[in-house]
Amino acid sequence: MEAAAAVEPGRRLEEALRATGALLEGHFLLSSGRHAGRYVQCARLLQHPERAEAACRDLAGILEEAGAGPVDAVVGPAMGAVVLAHELARALGARGLFAERLAEGGFALRRGFEVKPGERVLVCEDVVTTGRSAREVLEMLDEIGAPALGVASLVNRSGGPRPFGELPYFRLLDLEVPSWEPQNCPLCAAGAEPPVKPGSRPAPS
Ligand code: ZN
Repeated sequence: MEAAAAVEPGRRLEEALRATGALLEGHFLLSSGRHAGRYVQCARLLQHPERAEAACRDLAGILEEAGAGPVDAVVGPAMGAVVLAHELARALGARGLFAERLAEGGFALRRGFEVKPGERVLVCEDVVTTGRSAREVLEMLDEIGAPALGVASLVNRSGGPRPFGELPYFRLLDLEVPSWEPQNCPLCAAGAEPPVKPGSRPAPS
């Protein structure tokens, strides 16, 4: 696949997202309450194991280029990052774990998953927008005594290069998704159908 090798990894991911219908166009109500004309649903790409594997190999390449060093375990917040953690772990030769949201708030490792103090742990998310879930998993790891070496995601929608401050952040694709407060939404102004909730987190009521 000479031609594919010449394509820059971020471009390759964008093409894969389009090819699998993971880049949705429409009128969306984001979990923040804002409206947007695009939405990224990485699960639609990750449902194809060979595409998930290829994207995670590319992401692992970004870590290698950055000299991130060896990784013992990859931890993603469930449900969104379960498959990603697994495939990224495969690409990095690490264990793939997921953390689960607790009813009382925060995240925990269950199912016998364990990270030990001193292990080199990477947190992953498919798309980083606010980075809230990843940040909560980072806090969980701090409490365990195994602070993460960084965060990795397929897509960065946070609008900046450092959504986690000084903590290293690795991603394949920076994607601008303009969003608006409902009263300023051009789609509403143009008389579009009411916005739909595309994600898994309930919209604020
Ligand atoms: Zn709108």
